[in-house]
Amino acid sequence: MTVTQLQSVPVPHSPVDDIPPLVARLRATFDSGKTRPLAWRREQLQALLRFHKEQAEPLAEALRADLGKPTMEAYAADIAQAPGEAKLALKNLAKWTKPENVGRVPMLGRSVLMRDPLGVVLIIAPWNYPVGLLLSPLVGAIAAGNAAVLKPSEVTAHTSAVLAETLPKYLDPDAIALVEGGVEETTALLDQRFDHIMYTGNGQVGRIVMEKAAKNLTPVTLELGGKSPCIVDATADLTIAARRIAWGKFINSGQTCIAPDYLLVEESIHDPLVAAIEKTVKEFYGDDPQKTADYARVVNQRHHARLTALLEDQEIAFGGATDVDDCYIQPTLLTNVSPDSAIMQTEIFGPILPVLRIRDVDEAISFVRAREKPLALYVFTSDDAVAGKVLEETSSGGACVNGTVMHIGDSRMPFGGVGESGMGAYHGRSSFETFTHRKAVLKRGFRFDLKMMYPPYSKFGTKMVKKMV
Ligand code: NAD
Repeated sequence: MTVTQLQSVPVPHSPVDDIPPLVARLRATFDSGKTRPLAWRREQLQALLRFHKEQAEPLAEALRADLGKPTMEAYAADIAQAPGEAKLALKNLAKWTKPENVGRVPMLGRSVLMRDPLGVVLIIAPWNYPVGLLLSPLVGAIAAGNAAVLKPSEVTAHTSAVLAETLPKYLDPDAIALVEGGVEETTALLDQRFDHIMYTGNGQVGRIVMEKAAKNLTPVTLELGGKSPCIVDATADLTIAARRIAWGKFINSGQTCIAPDYLLVEESIHDPLVAAIEKTVKEFYGDDPQKTADYARVVNQRHHARLTALLEDQEIAFGGATDVDDCYIQPTLLTNVSPDSAIMQTEIFGPILPVLRIRDVDEAISFVRAREKPLALYVFTSDDAVAGKVLEETSSGGACVNGTVMHIGDSRMPFGGVGESGMGAYHGRSSFETFTHRKAVLKRGFRFDLKMMYPPYSKFGTKMVKKMV
C-alpha cells in the first residue's frame, strides 16, 4: 500500500471546430476596447485572486491525483505563483501603464513611450507546475490589457479538468477562454492568428510553435528547459549545499525546469558530498520515500519508463528503487557517470542526479560552455571570486550562488532562458512588458516648423547636416 495512488482520467478535449469562432469572439472583444481600461484589468486580476482563494483546495487535490504533489509543494510552488504576480500587478498597474516621458527632442517636440496591449494572446502550459505556469503568464496578459486563450497541459488531466470547470466562472468569458486538449487542439489553436504566443514546455514543441507563429509573424516567448548544471567547489559548506541541492532536485520528483540536472564536483569533496546528500534525502523523506506524502510521483508511466531506462548500466550511489504501478522512482544519485552516457545527453526531468568529478572550476566552466546554454546554473562556493568567474564565463537563463531554484522567486527579476533554453522572459514587470507593445510616440506642436528640413534643400541646411556626421 502506498501513500500516493495516482489515478488516470481520460484526456479532456475541446471541440476543434469551436476554436476559430472562439478566437474570433475574443478578437471582437479586444477590438471593442473592452479590455483596455485599467478598471477591467483590475477587475479580472481581483477575480483571479478570488479564484485562487476559493479553488485552491480542489486544485491541490487535482495536483495530488496527477503528480502525487505534496500539499506544501502544490501551494508554495504552483498555486501561489499567480496570486503573488497578480498582487504585484495590481499594486503597480497605474505605474506600469502610465505613458513614459522620455524627454524633449530639440526643435522637434517631446518623446513619449506608450504601452499598448498586443491583442489576443495564446498561453500554452506544461504539466509539471500546471496551475502556475498557465495562470502567472495570464496575469501579465491581463495587466497589459489583452484577451487571452489558455491551453493547459492534457498530461495533468485532473488539474486541467478543475481549471476548465472553475476558472470561466470567475473571468470575463468574452475576453478569456480556456481550451482543453492535446496535440490536435493545440495545433488547431496554432493555426489561428494570435498577437503573441507564450509557450512553456520542451524545445521540440517550442520549434513547432515558432514555425507556426512565423506564418503570421506572431512574436513568441519560449520558456524551455535543458540541463542545468550545478558546480560545487572544495570551499563549499557541504551540509548546506547538500540540503539545497537535494531540495531543488527532488521537489516535484525532479520534474522542475530549473532543477539541478547534474553535479560537477571537485574531486576532493566528491565522496563527502555524495554522503551528505544521501543523509539529507533520508532526513527529508525517511528510509522509504515511497511511504511519505512529502514526495511526489513521476507524472505517468511513459515518463517512468523513460527515466528507468536512463538508469541502465549506471553506478547507483544510493536510491534506484522504482515501482511503475505507483509511478515511483526513489531519489537516486549516480556516480562515475560518463559524459557520453544517455543520461548526459537530454534533460533528465526526474529524481535522478548524476555526479561528475572535476579537477577544478575551470574544467567545470569548459564542460558547461561545451554544451547548450542551460535555463539555470548553480555554483556552490565560499569564494566570491570563484562564483564571479563562473557567472562571468558561462551563459544561462538565470543563476543562483549557493542555492538552487530560489532565484525565480524574486519577481523583480525576469525569468527566462537563453539559446536552447528559450527566448523572452516574464515574472513581475517583465510579464507585463512581454504582452505589451512599447509604442514610440513623438508629440509635436505647431509653433516651430523648420523650413530648412524640407526640399528644395538649402546649401546652409546641407552644410549643417554634414556637420552632424
Ligand atoms: P507537455 O507535454 O505538457 O507539453 C507542453 C504543451 O505543449 C502542452 O500544453 C501540450 O498540449 C502542447 N503540445 C505537446 N505536443 C505538441 C505538439 N506536437 N504540437 C503542439 N502542441 C503540443 O509538457 P513538456 O513539454 O513535457 O514539459 C516539460 C518541459 O518543459 C521540460 O523540458 C521543462 O524543462 C520545460 N519547462 C520549462 C519551464 C520554463 O519556465 N522554462 C517550466 C516548466 C517546464
